[in-house]
Amino acid sequence: MSAAPGLLAIHAHPDDEVIGTGGVLARAAAEGRRVKVLTCTDGKRGEIVGEGMDEEEIRPRLAEVRAEEIANALSILEGPGSIEHEFLGYADSDMMGRDGNYDPANFWQADMHEAVGKVVRVIREFRPSVVVTYDAFGGYGHPDHIQAHRVTVLACEAAGMKVMYPEAGAPWRTPKLYLTAFPKSRIAEANQMFIDRGLPSPFGEYTDPDEIPMGTPDDLITTRVDVTPHIEVKRDALHAHVSQIAPDSFFMNVPDDMMEGFYGHESFVRRWSEVGTPDGVEDDLFAGL
Ligand SMILES: [Zn+2]
Repeated sequence: MSAAPGLLAIHAHPDDEVIGTGGVLARAAAEGRRVKVLTCTDGKRGEIVGEGMDEEEIRPRLAEVRAEEIANALSILEGPGSIEHEFLGYADSDMMGRDGNYDPANFWQADMHEAVGKVVRVIREFRPSVVVTYDAFGGYGHPDHIQAHRVTVLACEAAGMKVMYPEAGAPWRTPKLYLTAFPKSRIAEANQMFIDRGLPSPFGEYTDPDEIPMGTPDDLITTRVDVTPHIEVKRDALHAHVSQIAPDSFFMNVPDDMMEGFYGHESFVRRWSEVGTPDGVEDDLFAGL
């Protein structure tokens, strides 16, 4: 069974879809492709930093607030196209070592077989040509991001096997799987730009780029997608995540002349491709399909 090429992005929390993949989602939607975002957790343990937001008032209903925010963000990203959305149904896992990290309803504590089965169902229903998720470190070490990586990679494998989760639909082999990546060189460059301008760096106060505990070595990047036409849309979609964006956050204050350098490209590591691999860095997630 085949389907028109579609993009499925599997993320941990509402807002991650914009930060890591807002450009490719907007681009795929603008190209009229099938696009879906699967968000593994409700984000209810995230920080509340939105302007004028009261912690005590918002905290008990943060999951609802963030569900609204992601609906708004996706309606901005999709433009005249369409982006489907689904929550996988787990609670936010908080950070390692905190009480919330031991909540049996959270994603980190989830039964792996069950969680993979849920994602297999989504993959078999949507039948993506391209799946995107995080790398094994979850980009920066958040337990929900690490778990999203594990569950997605296993689910992509299992979805193609008839003997696995037979109740979850007909097998579907995803031809291409990508992991989001922030090239080390870009992080070092951006970090320096912020320092030079006396702005707080989003990566911490590191002066030695090698000390920054995130970023993918440039020579591992396989794919670099130009999303320059979608910069504004991506920024607007980010702003829709009101509870997550502090007025003084760098996302709200990227100077205009840094916008293109910061938001203009999204990078990925190709985890696998069944439709060939071009020489050099490719510029499209859908190349070869
Ligand atoms: Zn996240």
